[in-house]
Amino acid sequence: MEQPIPYQLGDDTVNEIKNTVGDDNVITDHDVLKQYDRDASFLRSIPQVMVMARSTGQISRLLKLANIKKFPVVPRAGGTGLTGGCLPIFGGVVLNLSSMNRIRAIDTHNLIADVEPGVITLDLRNAAKEKGLFYPPDPAGMDKSTIGGNAATSAGGPSCLKYGTTKDYILGLEVVLPQGEIIAVGTRTRKGVVGYDLTHLLVGSEGTLGIITGLILKLIPHPPKSKTLGAVFHDIRNAMTAVTQIQVQGHLPAALEFMDAKCLGLVKDLISFSIPGEKAAYVIVEVDGTEEQTKASLAEIGKILKQMGASDLLEARDESQRENIWSVRRQISIRIRETSVINVAEDIAVPIGGIADLVSAMPEIEKKFGVSLYAFGHAGDGNIHINITAPKKDHPYIDDAIRTVLKTTVAMGGTISGEHGIGYAKKSFLGLELSPTSIGLQEGIKKLFDPNLILNPGKIF
Ligand SMILES: Cc1cc2nc3c(=O)[nH]c(=O)nc-3n(C[C@H](O)[C@H](O)[C@H](O)COP(=O)(O)OP(=O)(O)OC[C@H]3O[C@@H](n4cnc5c(N)ncnc54)[C@H](O)[C@@H]3O)c2cc1C
Repeated sequence: MEQPIPYQLGDDTVNEIKNTVGDDNVITDHDVLKQYDRDASFLRSIPQVMVMARSTGQISRLLKLANIKKFPVVPRAGGTGLTGGCLPIFGGVVLNLSSMNRIRAIDTHNLIADVEPGVITLDLRNAAKEKGLFYPPDPAGMDKSTIGGNAATSAGGPSCLKYGTTKDYILGLEVVLPQGEIIAVGTRTRKGVVGYDLTHLLVGSEGTLGIITGLILKLIPHPPKSKTLGAVFHDIRNAMTAVTQIQVQGHLPAALEFMDAKCLGLVKDLISFSIPGEKAAYVIVEVDGTEEQTKASLAEIGKILKQMGASDLLEARDESQRENIWSVRRQISIRIRETSVINVAEDIAVPIGGIADLVSAMPEIEKKFGVSLYAFGHAGDGNIHINITAPKKDHPYIDDAIRTVLKTTVAMGGTISGEHGIGYAKKSFLGLELSPTSIGLQEGIKKLFDPNLILNPGKIF
């Protein structure tokens, strides 16, 4: 697809934007805009103008104007994305959806939630829980990410192993299409197969096909109890065999996470065991259900972990110990970011049985390109976060290291992104996984939705 030419908004256009969306909703103060120059990727881009979204009608008017004037509009919400998807790399207007944040209904009669896109993920989970219901998707940044951003990236998280990703909970959407039309797609029902599935084309489209302004979400009964266990292994191969065996032997945990020895080294001060060598791994298992179910299931899983070579099992005895186990897991990406000058977070996925092989290929890549690799994440579904780090800014081989990690993944039958998406950061790697025909079809869909290429241009393709 032709690459966009960077767009600078003129004063006249800014005035027209103000007239269209309301003066008070337009931010042009550079000092304020500087705070929106980033997401959680390594990319930076200060917006020239930011519009605060207030209503579906206002967004529709903005997009109609954008098509007349041909300026880009870039949706932004929590700003926790890891690929630069919400950054105005090619200029134009950043449309900030975080203020459209009402939970319109938690409907206990139909087990659905009706929400605006700027609702913080954790707020929705808590609101559903208060009514005995469960919204399972739990991306690790859920205290800041929004439901609209989660839908745009089809976010995952630890509980996806058992419960699926965001897309599995989206029944229907209200969307403003790039030319300003407002459309409702999907249903309020659990099932629906009328026509092409536009809902799930829009989910995961990273703000390139439409602006999500309302969501109908599926809720399920909240599990009464969760129990969590940590298991220490000398050898990551044994740990990964255990991850597979737990599932083969009939268990589907609510989460099955791991971290390698390098990651454990970063959180030494937070763990109660010593790291048994450089091939070590730590596995976190969480099960949910009734008290009896969780107790029985964790006891059986504990036996499997021991049989597969776990040297230590650390069961959380109460909620605060459980929270400790998860806070160690959450600290990993924070500490990697804090301790490295360059940090590129990849979230590849391989067939479940391939994790150990992939991790074993890492030392050679480290040696060849002079980088450090940290592996952790969702072992149960093969989705591993590999952070590629370097000690200095202008490290010459970082791109080669990234490409080699991604190529190795694809060669193993894996995918270059399990949950974070492509955005801007990964678009040069798209051809490693998708055929020219597939890319061509997808570019055709983009042009059909957005003939003037004004919505989040230069992302994905
Ligand atoms: C510490 C940390 C942990 C994380 N853990 C996970 C994890 O476990 N799993 C996971 O999947 N991700 C994870 N992420 C990544 C991130 O949280 C997700 O990608 C999240 O879905 C982004 O939501 P957001 O509201 O921050 O969106 P933003 O970053 O603001 O935007 C992300 C993309 O969505 C588009 N967008 C946002 N809102 C809308 C809308 N209403 N309509 C159309 N397009 C829109 C933007 O244009 C952009 O392309 C993590 C990030 C951090 C910082």
